Amino acid sequence: MILKALLRRTPFWRPLLHNGLWRLPPALARVGGRGQVLLSFDDGPTEASLAISRILEAHGARGLFCLVGQGLPRDAAAPSPKEARALALVKELQRGGHALAVHGLDHGRLGLRAPRRVTRELAEAAHRLEEATGLRPFFQRPPYGHWMPWLGRASRRAGLLPLFWSLNALDYRATRAADIVEPVLALVRAGDILLLHCSGPGQEHTRAALPQILEGLRAKGLQVLDPGALLESLHA
Ligand SMILES: [Zn+2]
Repeated sequence: MILKALLRRTPFWRPLLHNGLWRLPPALARVGGRGQVLLSFDDGPTEASLAISRILEAHGARGLFCLVGQGLPRDAAAPSPKEARALALVKELQRGGHALAVHGLDHGRLGLRAPRRVTRELAEAAHRLEEATGLRPFFQRPPYGHWMPWLGRASRRAGLLPLFWSLNALDYRATRAADIVEPVLALVRAGDILLLHCSGPGQEHTRAALPQILEGLRAKGLQVLDPGALLESLHA
């Protein structure tokens, strides 16, 4: 159990670094409290994003989807055929009441890139998401959580706040749903931001695990935080 927790728990210094040093709101690596957990899903928009959103909706829950921008059109009125599908998926997520965030323009490691480039790319991804939804995104989640302290300003210049996670489901390593469900339900606690994925290996296990996670959270007295409400409280 200790090893599992070490693997999945975000290192203690990460929220300190991003909350403390850069004086950003305390929504960066933990949220809510009062028995709430935020479910976040990286790497969409994919067909799996849509399937996941439907599972959440069937359980009365909403998620935060962190989306890669490059598959979305620069101009939502003139998408290529491939972009049109990505655009439709994003609109479906929005229609389902889920919140959307930037997961980079591509899936590269931002910490290896110059701050100006990071600002440019995040702004471009935010623009494409705003084109698709009519809403300016508020959060960005760096791919792999790869980050450097000096990128705090680069992100703010793009009008985005970095959002990490506190509990990684490691669903991309799962070979069965139980690999996800059991450690998540053993480790989860109020205020956690749980990281799951909409693509990659283990995807079908994520979908199979999700109803069990939702039911398990309820059995533990934890509620799934509505990220739309979180965004409203941050804007207030
Ligand atoms: Zn990712």
